[in-house]
Amino acid sequence: MAGNESVTIEDIDGISSLCTGCGACAAACPTGSICMTTDREGFSYPRVDNNQCIACHKCLNVCQASRDSAKHNPIEIEVLYASRKDERAAGSSGGIMGLLAKRVLESNGVVFGAVFDAEGHRVIHASTETHSLEKILRSKYVQSEAWPTYARVKQHLCSGEQVLFCGTPCQVIGLNRYLGKQYSNLLTVDFFCHGVPSPGFFADYARLVESQKGSRLTDVTFREKSHGWREQHMRWYFSDGSNIEEPSLDNCHYFFFLGNYSLRKSCYTCELYKRHEADITLADYWLIDPAFDDDLGTSLVLANTENGLTFLKDIKKDTIEVPVDNFDFEIYRHSYCPNKRANFFDCYVNEGIEATCGSYFDNEHRVWCIRNRCGAIKNAFVSKIKNCIGAFTR
Ligand SMILES: Cc1cc2nc3c(=O)[nH]c(=O)nc-3n(C[C@H](O)[C@H](O)[C@H](O)COP(=O)(O)OP(=O)(O)OC[C@H]3O[C@@H](n4cnc5c(N)ncnc54)[C@H](O)[C@@H]3O)c2cc1C
Ligand code: SF4
Ligand code: SF4
Ligand code: SF4
Repeated sequence: MAGNESVTIEDIDGISSLCTGCGACAAACPTGSICMTTDREGFSYPRVDNNQCIACHKCLNVCQASRDSAKHNPIEIEVLYASRKDERAAGSSGGIMGLLAKRVLESNGVVFGAVFDAEGHRVIHASTETHSLEKILRSKYVQSEAWPTYARVKQHLCSGEQVLFCGTPCQVIGLNRYLGKQYSNLLTVDFFCHGVPSPGFFADYARLVESQKGSRLTDVTFREKSHGWREQHMRWYFSDGSNIEEPSLDNCHYFFFLGNYSLRKSCYTCELYKRHEADITLADYWLIDPAFDDDLGTSLVLANTENGLTFLKDIKKDTIEVPVDNFDFEIYRHSYCPNKRANFFDCYVNEGIEATCGSYFDNEHRVWCIRNRCGAIKNAFVSKIKNCIGAFTR
């Protein structure tokens, strides 16, 4: 070990609840002293091998947990969807990411994004060099492993090719920190991010689904649009040619994701939805005026930089614009850590996947259904009373 000072696991541990798992530290380490390891909750965290560390501090310099990211105010905000039905259906919301990717591929560029790896039961980052664009599109609600692609992104940038990198806001920041300078041929795209669920939990759950089904998993879609954009369904595909589809909130992985049980610790305090470091930010535009909502998916699109604005202008001819008066980003605000997170991970770690997806899920789901049903009955009751009062006062 060279030098008196070395980066230790304690330095990394000190930021562990802020660590986003972007992996920029591992990608930047010149001696390969950092590997990303899985913690008991199933998330990746860096671990330093002090025997190889030369105390250069590159890892801490690229770490987003130790300093603020850049902040852009969006230059342009639009509500759009792809005008071609197939291109709109190919995305989880309005198909805008697909249009941006197509534009980059037309100029012989490369697109990096998240891909479901059925064999590993995980989500990785990969590019159009090895995977079809179809595999890269759509939301996968599991934390992906982006850091292994950062060096490859840099190679393409240095050889002058146009690169599109899409990931969570913290992954885009991780890539930018790793690159250390701006490249005019890089387009970064992120999204308003709810948070990422545990990849370890998802992998165990996927194995359980496989064993119950008695067939190997070949793919999974997290947001089937066959029942519309709002009524979300998950569909599992198997090697025997069959598939299983279920409403998302009846699926234990999705229920724990949306209910904020299974997210990474850093997600509960994440303020990146206000910073917009990527060139373009995408989101589902849930506040769409019902008069314009055909339930096929509509996107909110923010051009945060001049580079993003150029691409947005380029794809606009292939989109349909929805008129909007004002925007409320607060609907994308994060919900805070429920006590349930601790109970959820206690159950997963101590009792295992079968108990978590069995009795624990059944109980939580039942309570949620009762509350929801009571809420719906209460709302119907209140609106009935309001109507009666209205009738009396008219
Ligand atoms: C984990 C996660 C949380 C999200 N939370 C919200 C939210 O709270 N509110 C909201 O409005 N929108 C959210 N989105 C974004 C939304 O689901 C759509 O992806 C987005 O609106 C773009 O839709 P699209 O049709 O244009 O593109 P799509 O074709 O859906 O493309 C989405 C892109 O995101 C990338 N991606 C998919 N999964 C991951 C992943 N796990 N990690 C990193 N990158 C990934 C893919 O590379 C893909 O290119 C979230 C997405 C993800 C993946
Ligand atoms: S200080 Fe340098 S050598 Fe040591 S872990 Fe960090 S990046 Fe690697
Ligand atoms: S660089 Fe990323 S993965 Fe590494 S410690 Fe910082 S936030 Fe965590
Ligand atoms: S909520 Fe924040 S920390 Fe969590 S994955 Fe999204 S951008 Fe990263």
